[in-house]
Amino acid sequence: MLRLRPLLIAMTIALTACAPTTHKPGSAATAATPATTANPFFVASTLQYQAPPFDKIKDSDYQPAIEEGMKQQIAEIEKIADQAGAPTFDNTIVAMERTGELLTRVSKVFGAIAQANTNDTLQKIQEEEAPKFAAHQDAIALNPKLFARVKALYDHRDGIADAQSKYLVERYYRNFVRAGAQLSEADKSELRELNKEESTLSTDFGNKLLAATKAGALVTKDKADFAGFSDGEIAAAADAAKERKLDGAWVLSLQNTTQQPAQAELTDRATREKLFKASTERTEHGDGNDTRALIQRLAQLRAQKAKLLGYPTYAAYSLDDQMAKTPEHAIKLMTDMVPAAVGKAKGEAARMQALVDKQKGGFKLAPWDWQFYAEQVRKAEYDLDEAKIKPYFELDRVLHDGVFFAANKLYGITFKERHDIPVYQPDVRVFEVFDADGKSMALWYADYFKRDNKAGGAWEDTFVDQSGLLGTRPVAFNVCNFTKPAAGQPALISFEDVTTMFHEFGHALHAMFSNVKYPLMAGTNTTRDFVEFPSQFNEHWASEPSVFANFAKHYQTGEPMPAELVAKLKKAKTFNQGFATTEYLAAALLDQAWHTIPPGSEKQDVDKFETAALKRYHIDYALVPPRYRTSYFAHIWGGGYSAGYYAYLWSEVLDDDAFYWFREHGGMTRENGQRFRDMILSQGSTQEMDALYRAFRGRDPSVEPLLEQRGLKAEKKEKKSK
Ligand SMILES: [Zn+2]
Repeated sequence: MLRLRPLLIAMTIALTACAPTTHKPGSAATAATPATTANPFFVASTLQYQAPPFDKIKDSDYQPAIEEGMKQQIAEIEKIADQAGAPTFDNTIVAMERTGELLTRVSKVFGAIAQANTNDTLQKIQEEEAPKFAAHQDAIALNPKLFARVKALYDHRDGIADAQSKYLVERYYRNFVRAGAQLSEADKSELRELNKEESTLSTDFGNKLLAATKAGALVTKDKADFAGFSDGEIAAAADAAKERKLDGAWVLSLQNTTQQPAQAELTDRATREKLFKASTERTEHGDGNDTRALIQRLAQLRAQKAKLLGYPTYAAYSLDDQMAKTPEHAIKLMTDMVPAAVGKAKGEAARMQALVDKQKGGFKLAPWDWQFYAEQVRKAEYDLDEAKIKPYFELDRVLHDGVFFAANKLYGITFKERHDIPVYQPDVRVFEVFDADGKSMALWYADYFKRDNKAGGAWEDTFVDQSGLLGTRPVAFNVCNFTKPAAGQPALISFEDVTTMFHEFGHALHAMFSNVKYPLMAGTNTTRDFVEFPSQFNEHWASEPSVFANFAKHYQTGEPMPAELVAKLKKAKTFNQGFATTEYLAAALLDQAWHTIPPGSEKQDVDKFETAALKRYHIDYALVPPRYRTSYFAHIWGGGYSAGYYAYLWSEVLDDDAFYWFREHGGMTRENGQRFRDMILSQGSTQEMDALYRAFRGRDPSVEPLLEQRGLKAEKKEKKSK
C-alpha cells in the first residue's frame, strides 16, 4: 500500500508510459453493507486467479467500491496504528501489507479501464476520486502513531534475520519519510493540499490531452490529401470517419508522439505540414483543451513540494530512491550522448536534403518532411520499403510464432487462448500461461488496437499481482495502439510495432514470473529506471535470427521473408538513430529542466521555457523536435514519469549490457533464460536494484553496449579518424 506515488497514479493515469502502475493487494474482512452486495468488487472474483468479472462490472460499480475501499483501508490502518501491543514485524509491517484488499481490487481495474477504454462517466469518477485518493494516501503516510511503529522497527532492524523482511522494513521507513511522515503538522497540512492539487491537475491534464488528441485528427473530404496511403490505410481512414459519423470523409487520428508515423507515406507536402502542426499544437489552441496553464502550476507546485520534503528540486526528490540517485547522474548520461546524437541526426538531414535537391524539390527540409525523406533514404540507401516488409508481420503470427515462441525458448512457458474469460472490449484477448512443468501460472490479456477512447502509446499493467503472502497469482495485460485493419483484413504491422509487442510482453514476463512474498516487492514494483530493463531486454529477441525466421512469414503464402530483405532490415537497424536518439534526449532533458526549477520560482511561460531548456542542453535542433513537447508530455504531467523519462535510457544501459552477457555466454539458451528469470525476472524488488543487477552481471552495468547498439559509438570513431 505504501508505494505511494504509483498508487496515486493509478487514479490519475493517462499514463502513456508503457511502464506499469502498481498498487498492492491485501486481505481484510469484506464487510459489505447490504446496499452494496450486488457490487462485483465487494467480493474476490471467483474467476481463475481472481480475474476481473467484466461481464458483471458496470460503470456505476466503481465509485461506491473505491469509496468503500478507502474507508475499509483507513479502518484497518487505524487498527494497526492504535493497537496496544509493542510494534512487531508481523503486527505492523505484514499487517499493513494485508490492508486495502477491496481498494486494490477496484483501483487496479478502474485504472486499467479508465486508460484503455474510457468514457465520460469514468472520466468524471476519475476527476472526483483522484484528489480523495491523494488525501487517502496522505491519511496513511502522515499518521504519526503508525509512523512511530514503523520507525521503532526500522531502528531495530538489525535484529531481523530474514533479509527480505529486513529490506521490507527499510522500504516502509523510506516510503513514509519520503511521503512526509517526519514533517511538522503545519508542513503536513501544506503537503496534503499540494498533493490534492497535483492529483486534480494531473487528471485534468490526461482528460484534456485525450480530447485534444481526438480533436486534432486530420479530417479531409478530398482523398487526394492522403495520397501515398495504401488501399488498406485508406479503408481504415474511411472506417475511422464512419466511427465519427463523418460521411464521405477520411480521418487520420493523431498518435501521441510529435512525429506521426503517417508522415513517412504522405506524398502531399501540405498534408504533412498540416499533420505536423495538428500534432505539435494539439494542446496549444487556447481552448478548453489547452494544457499550458495547468502545466505552469504543476511545475511550480512540485518544486514547492520538494522544498517541503527537504530537497533542492523535485527531480532531486524523485531520483533519490531511484538507481540514478541524483538528477546530475541522469543528466550526465544524457548530455554525454547529445553531441554524438545531434551530429548523427545532422548527417541524416544532410543526406535527405541531398535527396530533396536531387529531385529538384526546391525547398529546405522541414521537420514535417523528416519521416517522408527518411523513408526515401531508407529505400535508396538500404533499398528497404516498409510496404514490402509489412506483409511478413501479421499480428497473430508475430504473437504466437514470435513473442510466445521466444518466451518458450528462453523460459519454457506455453500459452493457451481462453475464450471463456470475460473481457472489457471485444478486441481484447485472454491467454492462460503455463510454466515449463505444465503447471498453470498466470493470465495475460492483449488489447492491441487503437481506439479514440484509449490513451496513446503502449503499456503493461496487472489486474492482480503475485504475492506469496496473499496467495495470489499474476493477471497481467498489454495495451497498444496499432492501427486496426479494415473489417476482414489481416493486421499487418511494422517492425516497430513488432518490437513494441516484444517490449510490452517483457513487462508482462516481469509481472508473471514474480516469485516474492510481499506485495510491495512484486513483479514490476521496482524503481522506474529499472522497470524498463526487462521490457527493453525482451525486444532483443525480435531480431534474434531463429526467432525472426519463425514469425516473419508472408501472410498470404506463408513464405519466409527472403534472406535479402532480412539482411536489409538488419542493415537498416541503426538507420535514423540520430533522429530517434535526439528526439528522445530532447524530451528527457526537457523533463529534467521542468523538474529542476528551484522552489519559489515564478510560473514559467511554457513555450519560452521549452525553447530555453533545449538550448541550454545543446539539443535545440529545429529539424528534430522533442518526442513530446511540453504541452502534451503525458509521461511527466499525467503519468508516472515526472523527472523520470530518462528512465528508458537508464534501463537501456542495463538491457543492452545484459543482452551482451547472453552473447558472451552462448546466447539464447533455455539455461541462460532460466538464469535471467531466477536472478532478475522473478525477483521483483526484493533488494536494491543495483545489487540485483550486479549479482546477475558480475559487475556494474557498462554503457558501451548501448552506444554500439545505437550506432553512436561507430559514428564517434569515424569522426576521430577523419
Ligand atoms: Zn515499457
